Amino acid sequence: MQRPILAIPGPVEVSPAVLAAHAAPPHSHQDPELIEAFGCALELMRTVWSAPPDAQPFVVAGSGTLAMDSCVANLIEPGDRVLVAVTGYFSRRFAEMIRRAGGEAIEVAAEAGDAPFPDQLISSLDQALGLGPLRAVALTHVDTSSGVRLDLESVLRAARERGVLGLVDGVCATGGEHFEMESWGADVYLTASQKALSLPPGLALLVASRDALAVRAGRRAAAPPMMLDWEQWRPVMEAYEARRPSYFATPPTPLIAGLRVGLEEIMAAGVGPTIERHRTVAAAMRAAWSALGLRSVPVRPELEADTLSCLWLPEGIGDEVRAHIAQRGAIVAGGLLPELRGRTIRVGHMGWTTSQPALLRRIAGAVGEGLRDAGAGADLEAALSAFDAEFGIACEVDQATD
Ligand code: PMP
Repeated sequence: MQRPILAIPGPVEVSPAVLAAHAAPPHSHQDPELIEAFGCALELMRTVWSAPPDAQPFVVAGSGTLAMDSCVANLIEPGDRVLVAVTGYFSRRFAEMIRRAGGEAIEVAAEAGDAPFPDQLISSLDQALGLGPLRAVALTHVDTSSGVRLDLESVLRAARERGVLGLVDGVCATGGEHFEMESWGADVYLTASQKALSLPPGLALLVASRDALAVRAGRRAAAPPMMLDWEQWRPVMEAYEARRPSYFATPPTPLIAGLRVGLEEIMAAGVGPTIERHRTVAAAMRAAWSALGLRSVPVRPELEADTLSCLWLPEGIGDEVRAHIAQRGAIVAGGLLPELRGRTIRVGHMGWTTSQPALLRRIAGAVGEGLRDAGAGADLEAALSAFDAEFGIACEVDQATD
């Protein structure tokens, strides 16, 4: 039997070149080759993030949660008020981190599958500002627990106009969803390696704006733990980008080598075309789900993320369907939020996999077959034709507009 395809919303499948980069013997962190890879990766992050030249990229060993912790530990002081848009499990985590840092998290929450409208978030910003200073607004670009994508641009612009920092968790979005750090005015955009950047897990990545760096530099409360502290890491990142050796704590050198290769692959395809490819793939996957009778958890089409599908299971089908789907060749995730657990599945379609139509078709097929094996009346042929039709149509349109 073929190895099942990893189709959870991260970690995801990686390209052969990325795999090879990780499999090479580790470099010293002072090795010229590693310095070049690190410097190159930091430069490429600026492009993938559409970051302003005075922003600072950071790459440290860790996962997305560490990137979130680093953002909160550097920027939030006891007593700071932060508006948090709650669209699922990971935005709740953001709020909890802010409380742990001694801040006040003012939550604007929506039911699972829904999101506050941008206008609602902007009025909440104004209301909160009417009651006192507001340090930041915390937004989750795609909440992986609900498959909901937040409409960021107007909220980030409004935050910047009001002197409020815009902090974005892009863990399930970076490299797969449209984002422009500079023109939208975000102050932190953070992510992890194992999602749409299509690398193995192990790296926490973020870019901080000049304003965010200034807030850290002017911090009155105790400094963050050393491993999270931007003031410790900034000279190291600056040195690598200037192709000089540096040391504060040992970087995970094989992961840095892989990061460079992964980001170069995105650049070779083009950032815009890569985002567009995720959109095309998501549309084709949705066509397959709808032919299988699976409904999306996001309650409005514009809320559906392009990096994953979060789907209601048919009546009478529970979490056991995932074992059937795995038997048919794809590993998918279950529900994470208590209200979705046992009643939903989540299928990742991000990163390198989105450049592999045959793999995507196998994922859609495995879900259909798994549903059938579990006793649902799924029309597999209709699902695959819907996938092909949507994929084919999208490709033709792409060519026509070239
Ligand atoms: N935020 C979001 C939106 C996520 O999807 C995840 C991981 N699924 C995290 C944060 C936490 O990242 P990690 O598991 O890499 O710590």
